[in-house]
Amino acid sequence: MEPQETQKQQQHQELMEAVLRLKFAQERTDRALVDLQTLATPLAAKQTPRAKFERWRDSTDGKRWKKSQHTKQNGQCANCQTPIALNGSHIDHIQPLSRSPQLACTPHNLQILCATCNQHKGDR
Ligand SMILES: [Zn+2]
Repeated sequence: MEPQETQKQQQHQELMEAVLRLKFAQERTDRALVDLQTLATPLAAKQTPRAKFERWRDSTDGKRWKKSQHTKQNGQCANCQTPIALNGSHIDHIQPLSRSPQLACTPHNLQILCATCNQHKGDR
């Protein structure tokens, strides 16, 4: 066989091997993804809307939202308009978490209340 021909055949062989390695790697990745989903599904179900909200509230995003909302409300309670300090204010779910858990961290469902109004709303 011509040396050129042999080289071509070898390159072809190497290419086929690389394709096979990729195929195996993909199969391993697919299996690992299925395993991860199996592990993650029960964990996600355990995440209550309240826990999800609290995690968001304590995150950088949540803190940023609260600060900007406090400014939007002119530093006042959304219900009684009493001036409130950012730190002493409470994030309220307009549609309660119990009724609309899917709106746990949705800004348009959130407002800031003073402690008194938040307490009264919680009692209802
Ligand atoms: Zn109030």
